[in-house]
Amino acid sequence: MKVPEEPCQCPDCLRFYREHDRLIREFPTLRQQQEINWAALQSFRTLCGRVVEDLQKQLNSNSLPKSEDLKAGTIERKEKSITQVMSDLENINAHLYSIEALMERIFDVKVPEEFEDKFREIAGELAPDPLNIDRLRLNRLLHQTPDLPDK
Ligand SMILES: [Zn+2]
Repeated sequence: MKVPEEPCQCPDCLRFYREHDRLIREFPTLRQQQEINWAALQSFRTLCGRVVEDLQKQLNSNSLPKSEDLKAGTIERKEKSITQVMSDLENINAHLYSIEALMERIFDVKVPEEFEDKFREIAGELAPDPLNIDRLRLNRLLHQTPDLPDK
């Protein structure tokens, strides 16, 4: 069995690597990771919740005036799709709620500043700034090496 040596390079994966590294680079401490992940979870819940509320309102106001019988079929289809989306979003919110309950435990931990420095150090190794001048120089050197296996 052959294990691929290179990570997948499809556009979705590339976007994921970029985003992954950016989050490490921009939030390089335990505290910052805790905060950003909590904020991401909460903003996801808030937005989904508000959309569901709004769709509910739309559904309620639609069901009031049914003067035009011609449009009844269209309205019914529309209501059905709104109901479906609402139920999907409520599902997501239920999952997010469970994740929140688990995640709260992560936030009990606080480490002394010297360990936050360790986080910063490792973050710098994992996700160096792609525009950092030393890295650009290193990349250029690597690409000039003639006996590089690929190509
Ligand atoms: Zn991929």
